[in-house]
Amino acid sequence: MKALVYRGPGKKSWEDVPDATVQDPTDVVVRVDTTTICGTDLHILQGDVAAVTEGRILGHEAVGTVTEIGDSVKGFAVGDRVLVPAITKCGRCEYCQRGMPSHCQTVGGIGWIFGHLIDGTQAELVRVPYADTSLYAVPDNVTNEQAIFLADSLPTGYEVGVLAGNVRPGNTVAVVGAGAVGLSAILTMGLWGAAKVIAVDSNKFRLEKALEFGATDAVEVGPGTVADVIALTDGLGVDVSIEAVGYPETLLTAASLVRPGGTIANIGVHGTPVELPMQDMWIQNVTVTMGLVDTVSIPTLLKMVASGRIPAEKMGTHTFTFDQMDEAYRVFESAAANSALKVIINPS
Ligand SMILES: [Zn+2]
Ligand SMILES: [Zn+2]
Repeated sequence: MKALVYRGPGKKSWEDVPDATVQDPTDVVVRVDTTTICGTDLHILQGDVAAVTEGRILGHEAVGTVTEIGDSVKGFAVGDRVLVPAITKCGRCEYCQRGMPSHCQTVGGIGWIFGHLIDGTQAELVRVPYADTSLYAVPDNVTNEQAIFLADSLPTGYEVGVLAGNVRPGNTVAVVGAGAVGLSAILTMGLWGAAKVIAVDSNKFRLEKALEFGATDAVEVGPGTVADVIALTDGLGVDVSIEAVGYPETLLTAASLVRPGGTIANIGVHGTPVELPMQDMWIQNVTVTMGLVDTVSIPTLLKMVASGRIPAEKMGTHTFTFDQMDEAYRVFESAAANSALKVIINPS
């Protein structure tokens, strides 16, 4: 089979590798019909994720068709159309039992294993461990181009942004960073009835998309960003401030927007320490949340996509074939400049 193989920092190649096969009775093999690229894949290629070693097949998002099943798999059969989520879960360990499979102890202490601890989804075939507890059947009226964004980006925006931020009806919410994940938070926020959703970004294309995805206001980053956002509230700041970038400056911006008693929900993947102004924040009764997605909201999101309430397909702006993997990465690496959000990659 062909697969995108990590060859050390800055290097990857679409090459022939041995076919994925069932290794454990709880495995299935899935033929990948649609995959995509995540910002995390770019971090890996920069050499930022030490656990990813040379020779690893990249990718942790896919929609595909089951081609082979292990002896103990009961819930899926050959030919089933399935969503392969970013998180793999055994369903039995303490963290799975408490609804936090992001830390599934059985699969390695972290639920994100595809393209990280085991071979990933940017390939013609992928081996899926713990298939019964990890895979989701895709309803007939949900397309591959919709379902693919439920593997990671939509659940991340929804769980780590909207749910962790505790968005409630009537709230005013700021989303700092309107890339794929910030926009995923905006796209799913309507479910909780926020009265005002303020998108903050430096890129005009992303701000336009944010308004199209359900934001009520767009603030372009400039010298007066914080004052501009506060002016859109009752003067006290936002109820929920979502950070979806992962830099110290953007988290500090998110922190300065929140009102007393509000929540700062950090989604961004940070690479350096951030100094929060605790001397000002301690007296504000502010909650700060952060974390890796559990993908436990996928059944909910699948229903909302199937019923037309969440137009997930809007996340996909560019489509490529497996042969164009390099070009897909090139476009995604400069997503804002290319007016790209997420890319869709199909076999042909
Ligand atoms: Zn990801
Ligand atoms: Zn587990």
